[in-house]
Amino acid sequence: KLDVIALGELLIDFTMNGESEQGNNMFEACPGGAPCNVLAMLNKMGKKTAFLGKVGTDQFGVLLKDTLDEAGINTSNLQMDTKVNTTLAFVHTYPDGDREFSFYRNPGADMMLTEEEIDPEFLKQSKIFHFGTLSMTHEGVRKATKKALNIARENGLLISFDPNLRPPLWSSLDLAKEQMEYGFGFCDVLKISDNEVQFVSGKEDYDEAVQYLQEEYHIPLILLTLGKDGSRAYYKDMRVERKGYKVDTIETTGAGDTFCGSALNYVLEYGLDNLTEEKLGEMLTFANAAAALITTRKGAIRSMPEKEEVLQVM
Ligand code: ATP
Repeated sequence: KLDVIALGELLIDFTMNGESEQGNNMFEACPGGAPCNVLAMLNKMGKKTAFLGKVGTDQFGVLLKDTLDEAGINTSNLQMDTKVNTTLAFVHTYPDGDREFSFYRNPGADMMLTEEEIDPEFLKQSKIFHFGTLSMTHEGVRKATKKALNIARENGLLISFDPNLRPPLWSSLDLAKEQMEYGFGFCDVLKISDNEVQFVSGKEDYDEAVQYLQEEYHIPLILLTLGKDGSRAYYKDMRVERKGYKVDTIETTGAGDTFCGSALNYVLEYGLDNLTEEKLGEMLTFANAAAALITTRKGAIRSMPEKEEVLQVM
């Protein structure tokens, strides 16, 4: 039995790492992709996880498979495409911490996952199914994602969604919005960032934006992340907020995923039916601390904190 299966992109994040003697930018090849970042955090918390997705047979694909094996993420359903190379993403970080992504994905192996590669028997073994929207940008992989979502729903898995909106990957923002809305219709746990919730709701105020999602889609647990300011949880008629931690941030890639993995760990421990304000507060505090820690480190999958390290930050 597995705790969480995640479907989506597995790629190399090239993050900026100083300059060479000649003054050229240097980039570090970090194994990444939101779904596996989430799983890596869950593995650190002792949970059993598996990944569903596709990489190329190039050296980056091999590196990614090895990385998942090393992290203890089950790779029995990781597909390897012999024709299309592993997806690459370059992350430019500006002095103020803002990031700009350039994707090398025309196409990339993660987009080549097909419906036929979704095995219902495999999915049924899990308690939670987690996904995002990078696997919904193009038709083939979108069909695969939708098949997995339907299997997850029919078999009573909890469904967790982190849209992870990346505008450059979409042919139009209308399509991105439409696919995010499709995801809202399925999920039990939604992790969404401040700018994403404004984008989908068209409302400036975060509480109003979340209220709109609650009314429209009846999502039991909505977790809103606010960058360095922390996070909020919306559950039944409760609204809980916890401030972020002040740390020496170098690079925020994977912060949201670390937050999400930490929160799903709480859902696995305490269920989704009887959460209290106290438990939600603990969830946010732990998730904020874990996410803050990851911003002090390069990469994500290989840099996930131990529980003791998170407790120390708290
Ligand atoms: P990503 O797309 O990189 O996964 P996100 O946009 O989904 O990130 P954020 O809101 O940026 O998510 O961050 C998630 C959580 O990480 C925040 O709720 C906060 O707890 C923590 N965090 C992010 N940035 C910082 C920071 N600079 N300092 C401390 N904590 C941070």
